Amino acid sequence: MWKVWKSRANDAWLFHTFHNAGGGFKKKTLVRESRAMDDRELYRQILGIQAPWQVQRVQLELNVGEIHVYLQHEEVDWVCSECGKTCRLYDHQPERRWRHLDTCQYKTILHAEPPRSDCSEHGPRQVRLPWAEPGSRFTMLMEAMAIEWLKQASQKAVAKQLHLSWDEIHGIMKRAVKRGLNRRKRENVAHIGVDEKSHRRGFKFLTLVNDLDRGRVLYIARDREQSSLDGFWATLNEEQLNHIQAVAIDMWDAYLNSLRKHLPDADSKIVFDKFHIAHHLGSALDRVRRKENKVLRTVGDHRLKGSRFKWLRNISTMKMKDRREFAQLRQQTLKTSRAWALKETAMHLFNYRYEGPARKHFSWWHRWAVRSRLEPIIKVAGMLKRRFENIITYLRHRITNAASESINAKIQWVKYTARGFRNMDNFIEAIYFHCGGLDLAPLPTQ
Ligand SMILES: [Zn+2]
Repeated sequence: MWKVWKSRANDAWLFHTFHNAGGGFKKKTLVRESRAMDDRELYRQILGIQAPWQVQRVQLELNVGEIHVYLQHEEVDWVCSECGKTCRLYDHQPERRWRHLDTCQYKTILHAEPPRSDCSEHGPRQVRLPWAEPGSRFTMLMEAMAIEWLKQASQKAVAKQLHLSWDEIHGIMKRAVKRGLNRRKRENVAHIGVDEKSHRRGFKFLTLVNDLDRGRVLYIARDREQSSLDGFWATLNEEQLNHIQAVAIDMWDAYLNSLRKHLPDADSKIVFDKFHIAHHLGSALDRVRRKENKVLRTVGDHRLKGSRFKWLRNISTMKMKDRREFAQLRQQTLKTSRAWALKETAMHLFNYRYEGPARKHFSWWHRWAVRSRLEPIIKVAGMLKRRFENIITYLRHRITNAASESINAKIQWVKYTARGFRNMDNFIEAIYFHCGGLDLAPLPTQ
């Protein structure tokens, strides 16, 4: 059995709901509705509501931890959202709700009936509301807060903190990315890098185009086919296209083909990434070591056992003690020592200032490599010779994909915190959000 008690305190109505349980009265709910000037003024200020809008009433639903704020407006003319012309009120749309930041730790929800303007040219149009973007179920402050938090924490953590679902948080992120991409101005970029990323290790790839000068992601496409990169060129105008001076890529024919097809004078601008080349040489070295280790172990020689990382490490980062130890190892007559020397010598190419001496260095190195009788090294040497004209371009442009290192670190973080990613689109949006250098915040209309 329900009984409703109504009492009047100051200017506020207090509704006490009691409910008969187990013989006695147990207080269950307290709903307080306030039309008091003070409360309305307080919420007007908290929410930043300005004329013609005003707070009509505030309803506290303490049992469910919610505060509902009802907004209404004065009689005024409205501005057509299409053309900006001042028009009369046409009608109101049914009441809508917007989640706002919590106030006093209560979920805070705004209510209003959005007015429609009566434009002589465009007919009835919903006017822009100062507290929310069209179509959003959150106030702009709520979205701005969520966006700031998302920059620092995972979607899951932010959703929990703001008492929103993962989908709601992702919707805020998605809208922010869309807004940011729309706001992006046509800018000239001189140095770009094309990089591939895997969504999950080993399968499903993405192609990323990075602005190497400003360390941001310009474009993301699915897969790592020629068509993946082809889509990027369509986003550029002729001036932007001609402004590109150099492109760092891995030795990957799909990208190479796309560049040659779309970029004017492509071959003078394509730079095969030097760290990618080092990686190929390192893999060849490791194959030599593995094979030699097997042979040595059959005769009880364990010199190469567990030495993999010693050979692949950068000497300049080694401690003195490790350096001496490694010197002893590499000075022995091992095939692996020769492969190591070949790798190191090949990489000297990138220290040259002028093309002439660099070319001489490379042909001398190439002759040495092909006579080395080290099959994996001979293979890489052949590849480097075939690709040489797009390797030597490094001396002119001095770019590598390592400039995308900060981007890659962020993407790693996104992947790590993104166990909630159910599909590729979500992953792509998160990369744009964190690495796109976008202006994401919603803006007040005034
Ligand atoms: Zn109009």
